[in-house]
Amino acid sequence: MRPIQNGFSMFDIPADWCILTEDWKYKGPIFDAHTHIGEPGTLDKMLEIEDQFGVAAQIGIVHSKEGFEAAKNKYPERFVFAKYLSLRDIAHYNVDPVIEDIVCTKDEGYTLAKSWFGPRWRDYIEDVPAGFRIDSPKLDTVFQALEDNNLPIIIHVADPDTYFELHYQDASKYGTKEENLSQLETVLERHPKVNFQIPHFGAQPEIHRLPNLGSWLDRFPNVILDTASSRWMARELSKDVKKARDFLIKYSDRILFGTDLSANRGDIEYFGGRYSTQRILWETDVQDKPLPFEDADTKDSGGTFINGLDLPLSVLRKLYWENAIRAYGSPGK
Ligand SMILES: [Zn+2]
Repeated sequence: MRPIQNGFSMFDIPADWCILTEDWKYKGPIFDAHTHIGEPGTLDKMLEIEDQFGVAAQIGIVHSKEGFEAAKNKYPERFVFAKYLSLRDIAHYNVDPVIEDIVCTKDEGYTLAKSWFGPRWRDYIEDVPAGFRIDSPKLDTVFQALEDNNLPIIIHVADPDTYFELHYQDASKYGTKEENLSQLETVLERHPKVNFQIPHFGAQPEIHRLPNLGSWLDRFPNVILDTASSRWMARELSKDVKKARDFLIKYSDRILFGTDLSANRGDIEYFGGRYSTQRILWETDVQDKPLPFEDADTKDSGGTFINGLDLPLSVLRKLYWENAIRAYGSPGK
């Protein structure tokens, strides 16, 4: 593990982030299981800031070949890399190149694959076959290839309820949230030997959805979750601290800390707000603390507030570090 650097003085961190790193309940290293890495020039800054918040390892979802090479060479013990599968090919059931890609993914230095089906993917891909479904039997060979190659996948399906209210009102195009979730559920049912990391709490951080999410975790032992993004977790889980806390404790072996931070947006305010938010949420019993950055989903309806879950240290250790190491090993090893 790389030693923690101190490139920034704490004076660079705005006071309303409230708690200094050394004051957190959990003092160990953090594995951020959901970050995005881009061009090589953005890496140093990202890591320098992350170090300040205790991050010692991370999944880097790769957006640039050059960035990937630079990260591998310069930070060999920092990253577990995830490779995007071609959404365009998947969306057209063009499975052969996707399977060829999966076969060589590990040899290229990646540990897992990534696919993204936030419903707005339909705004980006042209001529999607009518009635396209993620759980179409036409895609079974893709999941079979993941299984055959022992390649885990981060699969993002659906989005928070607020997005369906604000952005995805056209259900004929995007589907309802229930329809999106049920397609993913069928994929999970059909592929019990593929290791799935479902980001964003399975797009179900809303208190009313936790029972369904829990039933997925009960039925599919091959599923783990991550806690990206800070804004969504804080907004929803703060709404009922008891239910949220009980869920985190019950499924503490299955949830990985993650932020969804992008290297190319790396300034201390952006990163710091997200890291502080989750640390407040998981580690403290603070009540009604305003989110330290704007939540576009609630800015016109009263804002987002954090109520801390004050999780036990044993749960924090799993959340921040142990679960990720068990799933993916130590980076570079
Ligand atoms: Zn992401």
